[in-house]
Parts: sequence; C-alpha cells; structure tokens
Amino acid sequence: MLDCVPSDPGHRSDMDEPKKRRRTKKHAPVLHCSFCDKSQYEVRKLIARDGAERLAICDECIERSIRIINDQSLLEAEHRPKALFDYIVRQHAIIDQARDRAHKALDLLSISLPPSTDSQH
Ligand SMILES: [Zn+2]
Repeated sequence: MLDCVPSDPGHRSDMDEPKKRRRTKKHAPVLHCSFCDKSQYEVRKLIARDGAERLAICDECIERSIRIINDQSLLEAEHRPKALFDYIVRQHAIIDQARDRAHKALDLLSISLPPSTDSQH
C-alpha cells in the first residue's frame, strides 16, 4: 500500500515549539527515502510503503529515475524507428499530462496564461 507522507516541518520537533499543543498521540517515526536517505522533512514528497521495512522514495529520486529511464529509452531506441516512434508518443503523452496539471493549477488560482509565444513563430 502506498502512502504519501506529509513533509510539514511543523511537526519536526517538540523543542521548536515549547508550549504549543502537546499531543497525547504517539509521534510517528521520521521516514527516510530508501534511495538517497533524505528525511520526509528534507523533500517535497515522500511516498512510503506500509509494512515493517518502511520502504519509501522521495520526489527527487522519482524524478531522477524517470529522467534515467527516458534517457536510456532514447539511447536504446536510437536505431530502431518503431521504438523511436513509441518513445515520441510517450513523450507527447507526458507533455499533455503536464499541460493538464498546469491548467488545473491555474484554475485553482483562477488565472490564465497569455498565449504561448512559441506557437507564433
Ligand atoms: Zn530520495
């Protein structure tokens, strides 16, 4: 089961906030990325797997992994037109998804961007 761990530094230490709410609930242990060992407070997101071994991966390691996979896929497809075409289709799908996410974020701000200057050349 995957679980996105909040990386709110406000819960970091009792010493930082002496008289604020004392929780009777036991503090959860600080989680670390299984790849780079950064704590949940040093990264934007940490995706953790429930279980005894507490496996987790941070957003930075996920982005690095995706970059490696994409670079490797391009190298492997270099002299294979069908694989290269599949690679291009995948990259376009990624661009479309990123554009959709950016538009959702813009909707949250109730603003829109001016038309792209790239398409006006
Ligand atoms: Zn990491």
